[in-house]
Amino acid sequence: MEHRFTKILATIGPASSSPDTLRLLYDVGVNAFRLNFSHGSHEDHARSVGFIRDIAKDKDRPICIVADMQGPKLRVGPFKNGSTDLKYGSTVTLKLGDEDGDGDVIMVPHPELFAALEPGHVLKFDDGKLQVTVESSSGQEIKAKVDVPGTLSDRKGLNVIGAVLPMSAMTDKDREDMAFALEQNVDYIALSFVQTPQDVLDAREIIGDRAGIIVKIEKPSAVEQLDEILELTDAVMVARGDLGVELPLEQVPVVQRRIIRKARGLGKPVIVATHMLESMIDSPTPTRAEASDVATAVYLGTDAVMLSAETAVGRHPATAVAIMDRIIRAAETDPEFWDYFRNRRLASDATSEDAIGHSVRSIAEIMKCKAVFGYTSSGSTVQRISRERPPCQIVGLTPHQGTANRLALSWGVQPLKTIDPSSFDEMLHHIQHLATDYVGLTPGDKIMISAGIPFGRPGSTDTLKVATVD
Ligand code: PEP
Repeated sequence: MEHRFTKILATIGPASSSPDTLRLLYDVGVNAFRLNFSHGSHEDHARSVGFIRDIAKDKDRPICIVADMQGPKLRVGPFKNGSTDLKYGSTVTLKLGDEDGDGDVIMVPHPELFAALEPGHVLKFDDGKLQVTVESSSGQEIKAKVDVPGTLSDRKGLNVIGAVLPMSAMTDKDREDMAFALEQNVDYIALSFVQTPQDVLDAREIIGDRAGIIVKIEKPSAVEQLDEILELTDAVMVARGDLGVELPLEQVPVVQRRIIRKARGLGKPVIVATHMLESMIDSPTPTRAEASDVATAVYLGTDAVMLSAETAVGRHPATAVAIMDRIIRAAETDPEFWDYFRNRRLASDATSEDAIGHSVRSIAEIMKCKAVFGYTSSGSTVQRISRERPPCQIVGLTPHQGTANRLALSWGVQPLKTIDPSSFDEMLHHIQHLATDYVGLTPGDKIMISAGIPFGRPGSTDTLKVATVD
């Protein structure tokens, strides 16, 4: 099978930001690139956007760009000596302020924390490596007992377990970064540390329809309101890094499975992120468990799998992509991969889009069709086809560059920016041409075409035609 259905999203960083490396990563299998606004300057990100758009133009293939906002990531302040040792069973004091911490005093520059914390709440530091439990809280000072000891150094991350903090998912930095990313015409904006549906509405007010929204699920409160949040977003990321600190670790696979199932049901792209091939930051091969983790996400039907530090700062960025590509292809060639989708039918809405999506999968199975060509304006019809996970390529044809780029993240979709045909005959002629020249099909191959006639009216898909490549 030449075509790969599950997409690869790769994070750009110092190890991958040169034009040659970005091109190499694309050539070995990247479908979408992630700009991580927790690092790098606007100049760095603008340069990467320019290089990626050049690659897309040269290859005549849409590439998706995701701008990932830092969000309200909490951090401790600096220490007088660069770090402090937290001893098991000892009591530490967290104080509000920007000064240096020292000994058993940890300075924290976030007033929201002091407003929300109560005895019993747990704080984790440095990606969950150290832990304290709040014993008392009075205005600007919190006393906490050390449960998991270790060395805490300057500005390490801080996660609060068991409290919803009164803070928006957007900081001032996020607002500036978002405005910049929108100026750069990125395709998706990813929102970090979303806690409530209102966080998504607030971002939508700024973003409008200038980019899609990806909600990163990494807070327990977002897991609790998953249905409401998924209704409002365009796509979702299982952000396992912070999720695994905020939730008990054993809940990560449970939540991952739930998010993939629900997002697919809604026809919204879902990305599984973080630690997928983590050991490849240094090693030229992944562990067996990592290979298995990528395959598990693929078997569950994720739209995309993400590489983070592996491509951003790792020693083998292109090898990590190439190995991820091989793992995905191996899973997708297993008949059981396809059985899973055949045996788990989705509930359909009473719309012609869903009826067509459902029919595409049946016709592809019965007639062994090689591809479906779907005309789409917003991308919606093609997403509804994609959510059915049909055993054929899905070619998404749209006159809008943004739609084409966004579809590059969706399962099985090969997007193409094109102009809408002016008649049915012109459409058939165009598709014959694309089938051989763009998709590589050969005479005799069966295909399908979905369209809304007359062309170009969003939400008007009403036609499904079966044809043969000649
Ligand atoms: C994560 O926490 O898994 C994640 C993707 O977010 P970030 O890389 O911004 O920590």
